[in-house]
Amino acid sequence: MSDPIRFDLPQSAIPTQWYNAQADLPRPLPPVLHPGTRQPVGPDDLAPLLPMALILQEVSQDRWIEIPEEVREIYKLWRPTPLLRARRLEKALDTPARIYYKYEGVSPSGSHKLNTATAQAYYNKQEGINGLTTETGAGQWGTALAQACSFFDMECIVYMVRISYEQKPYRRAIMQSFGASVTPSPSDTTNAGRSILEGDPDSAGSLGIAISEAVEVAATSGGACKYSLGSVLNHVLMHQTVIGQEALQQMELAGDYPDVVVGPTGGGSNFAGIALPFLHQNLTAGKETKLLGVEPAACPSLTRGKYAYDFGDTVGMTPLVKIYTLGHGFVPPPLHAGGLRYHGMASIICELWDQKLLSMYAIPQMETFSAAIAFAKAEGIIAAPEAAHGIAGAIREALAAKEAGDERVILFNLCGHGHFDMSAYDAYLGGELSNYEYPQEAIDQAMQALPQVG
Ligand SMILES: *Cc1c(COP(=O)(O)O)cnc(C)c1O
Repeated sequence: MSDPIRFDLPQSAIPTQWYNAQADLPRPLPPVLHPGTRQPVGPDDLAPLLPMALILQEVSQDRWIEIPEEVREIYKLWRPTPLLRARRLEKALDTPARIYYKYEGVSPSGSHKLNTATAQAYYNKQEGINGLTTETGAGQWGTALAQACSFFDMECIVYMVRISYEQKPYRRAIMQSFGASVTPSPSDTTNAGRSILEGDPDSAGSLGIAISEAVEVAATSGGACKYSLGSVLNHVLMHQTVIGQEALQQMELAGDYPDVVVGPTGGGSNFAGIALPFLHQNLTAGKETKLLGVEPAACPSLTRGKYAYDFGDTVGMTPLVKIYTLGHGFVPPPLHAGGLRYHGMASIICELWDQKLLSMYAIPQMETFSAAIAFAKAEGIIAAPEAAHGIAGAIREALAAKEAGDERVILFNLCGHGHFDMSAYDAYLGGELSNYEYPQEAIDQAMQALPQVG
């Protein structure tokens, strides 16, 4: 027992507040603009889509926001999540680094997404909303929202990208088990869907199209249901900070403090969840932890994108947000980490990157799968392909520590398991995958199509 590997907290240690990093940013976030008028949006513009409590959280400058007791009660089903020391991985890598990971895959939905889905369903229910619409690609978000809606006895309407709907029937069945209605997108149930199908009856769909359908259903429901997003927005990132707050307590139990905190970045929510509480320590307690995001080399929004106003969706219906973007017309390359195929990134992460308060790696697909296999063999967990990017980042750090001969302390967020992603592992093991570098010409071309903002 002299070498503990697991650092568990009692349920009483579940955080009572979310950390709102907006309070500590060196300068305020750039305003969000109305897609038509190009003027800053106000609460009334967002009211058809989101409940007022979440609109207020979106713009709040309060450093700490109370987690409602009912939400903490539900968090008890999986929180606090475990933090483990990856001693067997350290040995396999022959590194002097000490590697820790926070495991969010123990949530009933299999990823961190239930942390925000629960909170979002709660606030909608509080305001008398009895249904939520959303989109899902790989299915992680749709699953989490379907579960959260069932906790609060709400209707859940999911538009699932058609190609995923066909390729991942079990994901669909999970959502349906929780009572969600799942429609392949594009569909003939919305104007947005019908207009796409008119031009291309066999459309495989995309996240952008599914967003348009889900938004349209909420906006035209006469207030019966609202829309819910699983990443990117400020309040979503804030809900995820329970991860890093628990990790701070657990690292103390372990008697260590991380030199590096690592997480994969799609829309930025799980990385924010683990990293922002450590950013708070950097900014207020004199700590110097390196906060390291990992994005796919095939979708390098931060490392190769431009900081500019752009739409959040493909069709150009959402408000304009200043983000590091590859252009809203970005065509996601064939990549198995479905949750990381997004043209932009959360504003907070973009602003921190612009202020040089974050580090980023862009890692190619083959390295992420080989890291995931090494991790699985050592620690026994099959990671989601998205989460594998965090593992690959942690392994790069551990090998750099070995090279430098230093005892770096590394903490990464293992944000989800990959039990429904085995076709991706199958393709990797069968030698069918390769690396994909997003071509510079495609980026240059997409930049031409950025909206003009005075
Ligand atoms: C959705 C998802 C992601 C990407 O979203 P973020 O907001 O960047 O966290 C990454 N990993 C897993 C397991 C996911 O489900």
